[in-house]
Amino acid sequence: MIRSLVLMMSAMALLGQKFDPAIAEQPQMKKAFAEVDARAEKIQKEWVELTEIPAPSKQETLRIAYMKAAMARVGLTNIQQDAIGNVWGVMKGSGGGPELAFAAHMDTVFPMDTKIKVREDAGRYHAPSIGDDTGALVALLHAFDIMKQQGIKTKGDVIFVATVQEEIGLLGAKYWLEHREKKPDLFVAVDSRLGSVGYGALLIEQYKFTFEGPTMHTLASKGKSNAARGAARMILALNEMEMPAPVAGGSPNLPVANVGTLGGGTVVNATPGSVFLTVDIRSQDMKAQQKLVEDVKSVGQRAANQEKLGLKIEGINLVHDYSKALPKEVRLSHPLVQTALAVTDHMQLNGKTKTVAVDSGSDDHNIGVAMGIPSIGIGAIIGGGAHSLEESAEKASILRGTKYMMLLTAALAGID
Ligand SMILES: [Zn+2]
Repeated sequence: MIRSLVLMMSAMALLGQKFDPAIAEQPQMKKAFAEVDARAEKIQKEWVELTEIPAPSKQETLRIAYMKAAMARVGLTNIQQDAIGNVWGVMKGSGGGPELAFAAHMDTVFPMDTKIKVREDAGRYHAPSIGDDTGALVALLHAFDIMKQQGIKTKGDVIFVATVQEEIGLLGAKYWLEHREKKPDLFVAVDSRLGSVGYGALLIEQYKFTFEGPTMHTLASKGKSNAARGAARMILALNEMEMPAPVAGGSPNLPVANVGTLGGGTVVNATPGSVFLTVDIRSQDMKAQQKLVEDVKSVGQRAANQEKLGLKIEGINLVHDYSKALPKEVRLSHPLVQTALAVTDHMQLNGKTKTVAVDSGSDDHNIGVAMGIPSIGIGAIIGGGAHSLEESAEKASILRGTKYMMLLTAALAGID
């Protein structure tokens, strides 16, 4: 009996697994879980309220004010705001534990004048940004509020940072982490599906291709170069391009190159002097990414040559430097990942299915991974249709998400 216990404990240590299920059985934690259910309506009401506050990237002012006040309301201390708008507060620990940072982003992809009114239907909320990433902000607020209320004291300090400009290249998290003299010991971005654990970084590069040709009256345009046709050729060729193979065990949706925006021309009765399109290129490994970027560029160049056009290629959001990232095996076996998996499975967030961590992610934690900080991407709600006007989320998921935030915080930062 003792022997098997010792064997089990050493196996746990080998895995770097730190979660002791007894934490979940402590009376304070049980009370904290009950409190989530008791204030379910309040949590969901705040979720709706915050969702209806518009916050396009770089125009997060209203949500910044809301989050600052909310952080003060739930008792976080040392609340600060930096030059680009990130706001954060601290739940002070008793000492002896790691410094743990949670990030959730305030910005959305929806312009200021988008009509945002949350509609409820059959247990789901419908509204732009309900899931990405408003639910996480609200779950974290209530998790820390309830922990404080129930006297659950962590050993390590817990920092909650509400970031800006996530949707335009993780710029807020990048600014925040780069400007912190002492980097957090553990960094957790809460921005994906509840139950998922990502420990890698998706490589993302975005380029703008501008085709330049003559501007001529429609009557003079027959058989002449046309910048619109150059762009069209490129889009069709991209569609037929051979893609690098997905990494073993990786997402079947990757690598990928998507044309997201296009435009050009000034009048309907002439050829457009210039037509642009943007390509979003994503992969799970550096080699595939480099090859894909080269291939996309040469497809663009070939289209321009065929159509006798000029071509300008500009990088809009170039890949972060991943040279400092820890090796995949080190990241996967880190106690941060193993603890998140253990808590996820303990709470059966994926039912009886054992959770598998994925070497991917395209959230704020990418920045942590790139900087060599132990980092993961997880979720606090179950949503769908992110980045579309039809976005929705399961109303009840935020309650499980709030509980998960509390148990994970206790497991990672340690409790007295
Ligand atoms: Zn997001």
